[in-house]
Amino acid sequence: MSTVEARHVWKIYGKDVIAVKDANFRCENEEFVAFLGPSGCGKSSTLRMLAGLEDITKGEMLFDGKVVNKLSPRERNIALAFESYALYPPLTVYDNIGFPLLAKGMAKKEIDRKVRGIAEDLELTEVLRRKPGKLSGGQQQRVSLARALVRDPSVLLLDEPLSHMDQRVRTVIRARIRRIHDELHTTTIYVTHDQEEAVALADKIIVMSMGLVQQVGTADDLYNTPANQFVAGFIGEPAMNFINGKVSGQNRVALNNGESPVSWAVEENIPEASVDASVLVGIRPENIKTSKDSVDSGIKAKVEVVEYLGEERILTLRLHGTTLKAVVPIDFLAKEFQDVWLTADPADIHVFDEKSGDALIKTGR
Ligand code: ADP
Ligand code: MG
Repeated sequence: MSTVEARHVWKIYGKDVIAVKDANFRCENEEFVAFLGPSGCGKSSTLRMLAGLEDITKGEMLFDGKVVNKLSPRERNIALAFESYALYPPLTVYDNIGFPLLAKGMAKKEIDRKVRGIAEDLELTEVLRRKPGKLSGGQQQRVSLARALVRDPSVLLLDEPLSHMDQRVRTVIRARIRRIHDELHTTTIYVTHDQEEAVALADKIIVMSMGLVQQVGTADDLYNTPANQFVAGFIGEPAMNFINGKVSGQNRVALNNGESPVSWAVEENIPEASVDASVLVGIRPENIKTSKDSVDSGIKAKVEVVEYLGEERILTLRLHGTTLKAVVPIDFLAKEFQDVWLTADPADIHVFDEKSGDALIKTGR
């Protein structure tokens, strides 16, 4: 049983390396929460402060409502698995996994049952008698993960725990981690730079960039109503397109497409203060409607590259110095250098302030 909370937490290394800026978040009991963001955005620093491995420069971390800033890792009842393995080289895999249980004074028989169970889950049964030095990076990482999962912690902290595994194993182990989380009824905090992992695993995703929490929400929230341009561009594959424009009315944006100006309706009213503001109009590749003939309010773009993606095609398009991507059906036969016309449903159009990057409307699907 544990809730985890950060209140105005900062991490500053040395004098001026600001790794985490005023972070506020809350993880509910038994929730699976992912920290997602590009390399260097402060994810590991946040997790290490939760673990007690790094001092908190300012602010408070709380477990179950109690401040834990001064508690050692041991006193926090957490289990950790990091990108690096930190295994004991002289011990076998079996003993590495069983070590935390032995330290707790658990009976040998019970330890055996648990170690074999988790080894089965993480496909380590064959290597239980080996020493870590004889294993691949991916296997060593699974041992480290097994050692964290075998305990019964209040909080499970995992930092890129699949990074050294190959794609097939990664998908299998990912699903097992979620299952084990559900069985243990623990609160899990999982750090990753991989949106696919975060979306597959987490109940709630905390997106970070440049030391700042950008948005907290479900995968659907982040995809449908990104709070700013960073989140909009980071979540979704291929990434959202951005076109320069201007607010031209209460629910209209004019697109800078060079030739004859085109304006698009958006679904919600843009705040009055933003009329005439320079904006970035966001539209996801899967939401762009592409036509080979000129259409009303269509913006003209040139096809540059045609790629195949399973049952669909992805077009890379050129629009006055901007590159866009559009997903089209497989039977949409487009040739390079051909002109196409693009439109979008008002409900699929996002609008971001050019300066702050903040979303000016919340589109709703
Ligand atoms: P992430 O895990 O998202 O990649 P980190 O939390 O590891 O990000 O790092 C955030 C920032 O803090 C980076 O700029 C990184 O270089 C810096 N940093 C991390 N650890 C240290 C450290 N021990 N000393 C100085 N700077 C650090
Ligand atoms: Mg990291």
